[in-house]
Amino acid sequence: MANNTAIVVGAGHIGIACAHYLQKDGYDVTVVDRSTVGGACSHANCGFLVPSHVLPLTAPEAVWTGMKSVFQPKAAFRVKPQLRAELYRWMFEFARRCTKRQMLKAGNVLQDILDASMLEYRQLFSDPAMNCEWHDNGMLFVFRNDNDLQEFGRTDAMLADEFGLAARYMDGEELVEFEPALLKGLAGAYYYEGDSHLRPDRLNAVWSEQLGINGVSFVEQCSVDAVETLEGHVTGLLTPQGKMTADHYVFAAGAWSSEFADSLGCRIPVEPGKGYSVTMTRPEIMPTHPMLIPEKHIGVTPFENGYRIASMMEFAGFDDSIPRARIQQLKDSAVPYLKTPEGPIEQDTWFGWRPMTWDSLPIIGRVPRLSNALLATGHNMLGLSLAPMTGKAIADLIAERASDLPLDALSPTRFL
Ligand SMILES: Cc1cc2nc3c(=O)[nH]c(=O)nc-3n(C[C@H](O)[C@H](O)[C@H](O)COP(=O)(O)OP(=O)(O)OC[C@H]3O[C@@H](n4cnc5c(N)ncnc54)[C@H](O)[C@@H]3O)c2cc1C
Repeated sequence: MANNTAIVVGAGHIGIACAHYLQKDGYDVTVVDRSTVGGACSHANCGFLVPSHVLPLTAPEAVWTGMKSVFQPKAAFRVKPQLRAELYRWMFEFARRCTKRQMLKAGNVLQDILDASMLEYRQLFSDPAMNCEWHDNGMLFVFRNDNDLQEFGRTDAMLADEFGLAARYMDGEELVEFEPALLKGLAGAYYYEGDSHLRPDRLNAVWSEQLGINGVSFVEQCSVDAVETLEGHVTGLLTPQGKMTADHYVFAAGAWSSEFADSLGCRIPVEPGKGYSVTMTRPEIMPTHPMLIPEKHIGVTPFENGYRIASMMEFAGFDDSIPRARIQQLKDSAVPYLKTPEGPIEQDTWFGWRPMTWDSLPIIGRVPRLSNALLATGHNMLGLSLAPMTGKAIADLIAERASDLPLDALSPTRFL
């Protein structure tokens, strides 16, 4: 086959998914990462696969929530003042899109990718080699306060009307019966049965292993420092291990993607949105369902050998600290909800930089002025859930096949 080699830059969920679909199409694929496979934002996230999460961050109330958080030292959302014009441009463009109309528009696009990705995952996980603790247990949105529960009831009604996403409502009593790890006296919950969860580091490990068996090469600890181009083509990637060449180049560099903007000659408005997680050994009374606790902005995920609490959204550039106070805040946030909110041993504390776009949509498509370069980035808070269809769309674009996705809405050309 002519034009049969491809290099994917970045070995997170997105890069791995791109490699999967390109390999299925018969390409000779190399994935190059300056760190390790799945070592960045795809390592210790919540592990939620959530077709219910169609609502983008660009919601009408987001600007007000952001403004209030400036005065709350423990707010989950935080912007660290920085002398970077691109951050303020990003914030301005984000704020401009926080309208109901835009929210529904972005939500429809996200729903298409989320639903189709879930079908792809189901097919992938039917292979016993893909054992990554995938469980089809749905997702609980848990509330302690009646007003908050009622307020979410309005969101739930909107999700049902606009997106056909109906949840099962449970009052406080029914909730403790359903999920005995929760404390008595909570207001209630909404249960989204179509969601599921897995262990993200296991997914990266087993998926890359299977791809390796099928001939995909993974080159770790190798930074792509420059992109060589000539007459509308990428001609090679410069790395400390030498120049790497292929017929097609896919840039799936997550939060670092904007570093490639100049060399690719296009705008890539991706900002790092930092979140944290703490993973512990199993608490005495282990939750059986993954849950979101919107009042505290935390996600709780049960694993076979552990239990994770994750949250926060900080726009602080590439600050790589893990403040102990933030980890303690995660643990404290679970106390009013769970009978045993902490596991006996802390196994891991972690942060990840989410690749955030100002319109809450990923960037999937051809680089405007380079015929053999594609972008697969900007997956915001949903990279795990959106990965399969991202990889499939990239393979479709390279093969010049029609895609099931609304690719115009996702194309990098929207930033021209
Ligand atoms: C606390 C938290 C919880 C989350 N929970 C969920 C969840 O439950 N469900 C969900 O769907 N999503 C979740 N997310 C979001 C999800 O983790 C991200 O959207 C996803 O990991 C992004 O994947 P990626 O492959 O684009 O980026 P990454 O995983 O960050 O991968 C990018 C890779 O590119 C490499 N790279 C960058 N520059 C270069 C270069 N120049 N040369 C070579 N390599 C390079 C990096 O080393 C990195 O490995 C969560 C995120 C956080 C922080």
